[in-house]
Amino acid sequence: MNEKMRINGPRLWDSLMELAQIGATPKGGVCRLTLTDLDKQGRDLVCRWAREAGMTVTVDQIGNVFMRRAGRNNHLPPIVTGSHIDTQPTGGKFDGNYGVLAGLEVVRTLNDHGVETEAPIEVAFWTNEEGSRFVPVMMGSGVFAKAFTLEHAYAATDTEGKTVRDELARIGYIGDQVPGEHPIGAYFETHIEQGPVLEDHGKTIGVVTGVLGIRWYDCVVTGMEAHAGPTPMALRKDALQVATQLMQEVVACAHRHPPHGRGTVGMVQVHPNSRNVIPGRVKFSIDLRNATDALCEAMDADIRAVAARLSSSTGLAIEITPVSSYPAQPFHPDCVSAVREAAQQLGHSHMDAVSGAGHDAVYMARLAPAGMIFIPCKDGISHNEIEDAQPEHISAGADVLLQVMLRAARVAKPAARAAAAAP
Ligand SMILES: [Zn+2]
Repeated sequence: MNEKMRINGPRLWDSLMELAQIGATPKGGVCRLTLTDLDKQGRDLVCRWAREAGMTVTVDQIGNVFMRRAGRNNHLPPIVTGSHIDTQPTGGKFDGNYGVLAGLEVVRTLNDHGVETEAPIEVAFWTNEEGSRFVPVMMGSGVFAKAFTLEHAYAATDTEGKTVRDELARIGYIGDQVPGEHPIGAYFETHIEQGPVLEDHGKTIGVVTGVLGIRWYDCVVTGMEAHAGPTPMALRKDALQVATQLMQEVVACAHRHPPHGRGTVGMVQVHPNSRNVIPGRVKFSIDLRNATDALCEAMDADIRAVAARLSSSTGLAIEITPVSSYPAQPFHPDCVSAVREAAQQLGHSHMDAVSGAGHDAVYMARLAPAGMIFIPCKDGISHNEIEDAQPEHISAGADVLLQVMLRAARVAKPAARAAAAAP
């Protein structure tokens, strides 16, 4: 009987559109930066909806909000879903918001059908996922997972010098709960893909197997400035010519580590950046990603070896400095297969997918079995006001969420399972 249950697509769509009114931009997007007055309005609205659905609402000290639907056995750790409702300055209607409202729609659907679950079900939204106003990104879930401290997050300032702590207090979202002292039996997050793969393959559901690990570096190639005219080609130390060879190798390195290798140079500074001067120094960023830490490590060794060869063949110094890194996060096999089976059972086309972007689920996966459900977004565009998703995909993803939540909350897993899933 529960397998036949479906979420109410139009109701979910209407809620998405209503929440998107708060901070709506003329181009059809949303600008609702974290801990602003608009964020407070968004938070208040979602909490009101939760209470109207019979849920209780608690807030922790970093402003993460947990909306709880009681189960039959409330000693069991809750099965949690959620995401974030803050946006980028040029954000869309779906990024994050979809994951939170899909969770709310699951609860509304269970209410419609009078279904009780064994374990409680919770819908969470995490503070400052976007990291646009305050760094670090995924702040609320990161504090919750103890990736960094509450004090570190509180002290973060925006460009006007306002702190996270003051802004949380100002909008009334500093709660009592100590972040992390809130049990999680399992965690699922629905999200738009924010990339073009599902659309390219014509699939409705992405079964997310994990999130790519990330390595960031700064690279500096040092040559010598000289006049572009009088210096013959053989006697130059042209830093840009060597740098562009290495930039090509960043891309080639990604191709050498398929299928999930990614290599990007996104930022370049040429010195002195003058038309008739041979560049003496080039600094550029390197962003390498792959599905496992071992593959990230292999890409690291690969690009360093190429740089060393290039340096010795050209005589120019090449320095590669790590800036930051994030480990790859595979999702729990049970959660991954639950998503795959639900998509199959519902008759939705699906494929395994990796997430190239970070999500709150990455931190939750350190605490409990976790998984993600992707749906396509138009042309793979996100963090953009024209971000768009089709109502039937929105519904399909929420239906998959309903089934995996039901399965997890009925056959509630003891807390010991959660510890076993930590990497
Ligand atoms: Zn997001």
